[in-house]
Amino acid sequence: RWVLPEVLAHQAAERGAKTFVTMIGGESLTYAEAQEQAGRVAGFFAGLGVKPGDTVAVMLPNGLDFVRVWLGLGRLGAVMVALNTELKGGFLEHQLENAGAALAVVDAVLADRITDIAPRLTALRGLVVPGAAQGSPHTALEGWRDAAPYDGPLPRAGDDACIMYTSGTTGLSKGVLMPHGHGFLFGLGSIDNFALTDEDRFYICLPLFHANGLYMQLYAAMISGGSAVLRERFSASSWLDDIRRHGCTVTNSLGAVTAFVVAQPPRPDDRDHPLRLVGAAPNPADTERVLRERFGVRDVISLYGMTEVNIPLYAEMGKPRPGTCGKVYDRYFEVEIRDPQTDIPVPRGQVGEVMVRPKAAFGFLSGYHRMPDKTVEAWRNLWFHTGDAAVMDDEGYVTFVDRIKDCIRRRGENVSSYEVETVLSRLEGVAEVAAYAVPAGIPGAEDEIMVALVAAPGATLTPEAVAAFAERELPRYAQPRYIDIVDAFPKTPTAKVQKAKLRERGVADTT
Ligand code: ATP
Ligand code: MG
Repeated sequence: RWVLPEVLAHQAAERGAKTFVTMIGGESLTYAEAQEQAGRVAGFFAGLGVKPGDTVAVMLPNGLDFVRVWLGLGRLGAVMVALNTELKGGFLEHQLENAGAALAVVDAVLADRITDIAPRLTALRGLVVPGAAQGSPHTALEGWRDAAPYDGPLPRAGDDACIMYTSGTTGLSKGVLMPHGHGFLFGLGSIDNFALTDEDRFYICLPLFHANGLYMQLYAAMISGGSAVLRERFSASSWLDDIRRHGCTVTNSLGAVTAFVVAQPPRPDDRDHPLRLVGAAPNPADTERVLRERFGVRDVISLYGMTEVNIPLYAEMGKPRPGTCGKVYDRYFEVEIRDPQTDIPVPRGQVGEVMVRPKAAFGFLSGYHRMPDKTVEAWRNLWFHTGDAAVMDDEGYVTFVDRIKDCIRRRGENVSSYEVETVLSRLEGVAEVAAYAVPAGIPGAEDEIMVALVAAPGATLTPEAVAAFAERELPRYAQPRYIDIVDAFPKTPTAKVQKAKLRERGVADTT
């Protein structure tokens, strides 16, 4: 049974005294301690009335409390609703209400965000807060220390372990139901594709409330019997020092993170570290090159995936193909590029929608929580429709093109907003750029391209400079008609740009 408490019990028996996880600037947990505490935390939640299958919201920063609560809820068979610590207001209310959690474990400094909206939440009964004082209306998480270990039955692989919400980049965020087997498969993907052993140490600087930090890294470390080093939040200037000081050998990342790492000024000790592998999605070709050449990282592995269906694409170790998302991880997944309208596969070399089908074995198919229409729509014909446009070459390498909803149809050409953004981001003084379609204003005419840009701190950016750069670097059909310099972009709590909101601003007062 591929369930968290069983994996943990196995490792506690095999290597109890070994460190499982170390918090930078804090304590560590051995496998034996983790096992012992998981039982007490499960007993603590059971004492608060939580039953197997109940949802419990968790809004905690990276730290050992997060790890304990994950392990404890896993032992109990309760469902952890992993909330982004950046959530507030409407986003937070939507997720808490959709999850229907009766209990929320929340960091003391974030508790007000929940108490403010609590009157509108139908299921929520109370908050568990680390360090809550006596006399506070909240329950102190530390109560687990006095709780008796839970001795109820273990969950099964098909039982839900977690709900994680998608970013909400293209609409209301959706709660992805993740059975125990789903998290386990994320872990297996890392183990296979990163060739993990029990000697590896993961450097985790991404949040544990996402599948990347929690499953691809922390759980992968546990399943392989290795260890993990946790940082509360990413810092580009500490990245290499942390890795060196803690002897980390692998990390999994995001393009948005590695871009900041490679932008750090070069240092003479840039190659002096044990880091052998960096996974990243997406990872621009120039970033990949700098990681290899300047930092001496042997393997930089691009991958592609999402909360709903795991990681179906990985680059092969030792066979870099910068700029692509890699090939199908065919041990567990089928991937086809198909026509989004007809679901018929398109020939190699042509753009279509990425569709994924896990080779189901241990109950990891996941739907959306309380959004049955969205689940059925996404899983039409029992293939997951990713909404991403991509192209597969003759050797099977897949290149991401754009979100289908963001594709721009102009002058008979399909323009990738992603490509326009990648090119314009190279202009000096550009911090961020978003390209999107706006109506041409003539009935029946195709869209026009609009780009909005945010200048780097201290830089001056003019529409004229952007237009001149675009003319030089982009094909004619991909050059923007409208250019707007803005102070900041509307973003989701996961820091993805909300183009729909930008589009609503219209084209007034622009060049
Ligand atoms: P929502 O589904 O609510 O609109 P979201 O899709 O942004 O939000 P996530 O699950 O966080 O939520 O992100 C998954 C998406 O990230 C993928 O569908 C894809 O668009 C993008 N992505 C993942 N890997 C890559 C990659 N290697 N290159 C480019 N884009 C990628
Ligand atoms: Mg999505």
